[in-house]
Amino acid sequence: TDNPLLSAHRQIEDMDAALRPKSLAEFVGQAAAKDNLRVFIESAKSRKEALDHTLFFGPPGLGKTTLAQIIARELGVNFKATSGPVIAKTGDLAALLTNLEEGDVLFIDEIHRLNPVVEEVLYPAMEDRALDLMIGEGPSARSVRIDLPPFTLIGATTRQGLLQTPLRDRFGIPVRLQFYSVEELERVITRGANLMGMSIEPEGAREIARRARGTPRVAGRLLRRVRDFAHVAGSDRVTQAIADNALTRLEVDNAGLDAQDRRYLHMIADIYKGGPVGLDTLAAGLSEPRDTVEEVIEPYLIQLGMVARTARGRCLNDRAWQHLGITPPSAQPP
Ligand code: ADP
Repeated sequence: TDNPLLSAHRQIEDMDAALRPKSLAEFVGQAAAKDNLRVFIESAKSRKEALDHTLFFGPPGLGKTTLAQIIARELGVNFKATSGPVIAKTGDLAALLTNLEEGDVLFIDEIHRLNPVVEEVLYPAMEDRALDLMIGEGPSARSVRIDLPPFTLIGATTRQGLLQTPLRDRFGIPVRLQFYSVEELERVITRGANLMGMSIEPEGAREIARRARGTPRVAGRLLRRVRDFAHVAGSDRVTQAIADNALTRLEVDNAGLDAQDRRYLHMIADIYKGGPVGLDTLAAGLSEPRDTVEEVIEPYLIQLGMVARTARGRCLNDRAWQHLGITPPSAQPP
């Protein structure tokens, strides 16, 4: 498609496309979500109706876009993808909506970053399949209503709490995605290696899986880098030793934390004595956008039990101190 509203969506990651599972059966993990979606898809198909609007929430790289594509494929409808920040004006949204065919899936990534004015136009579109547009200006301005075909909006957001309640309430199917287990990531990696025509030992796949931050996108990225290291080392088979060596050189440590994660932990440990420290202070100290800290770095560290979000700020837990190999200040003798 040459529509800039659609094609702006994550071009960089097109190289991932080959690894993307194409059916629910191929999609690893997220068992509860898949079971439910299977039922809703079957039911919509047999009623010959559009699937209810669906909201995916969870940290980046867990498969929200992939699932949205799979849903469209399983429904046998077109898939159109865009993202919240790309839809600047109500006219942009109107253009997207009026181009949909019956039953199509419109995927809006980062839907929490929609312009509030655009969001207002989305409500009647979702609820009544109608587009209320103002034409003209001043005293001659009037509102026209355009009927839309039945369609399914699939929204993706890193956290459900980021959405305005009226928007959140308009999704009939909310789906929370979880971090993946090591076993699940092992399957993602083995499958990816096969698709890439690469030979990998189960222990090699497991080593990458253990250190992939519970995230398929990270697993895919590490797999490609490990392949590069193996290739340069003259080996055509990824063993545990090769994987371990490559990951260590990539500064991915034993717990799967990368340099950015460790900088975050060290900032709280070294400068704020373990916290509590506020999000804005941390973001400024790390020179990272607040969103990146909150949506990308923290969820996995919280999942590991290393960091706690409290009303007064972020604090390190024992696990973090152990991992850093530092004695927490409170545990030091006076
Ligand atoms: P999100 O939209 O949540 O940021 P994506 O759907 O773009 O995540 O997934 C990121 C990458 O991870 C994609 O390249 C996809 O191939 C891969 N991926 C995600 N979920 C799975 C899964 N369950 N099984 C295999 N690969 C997956």
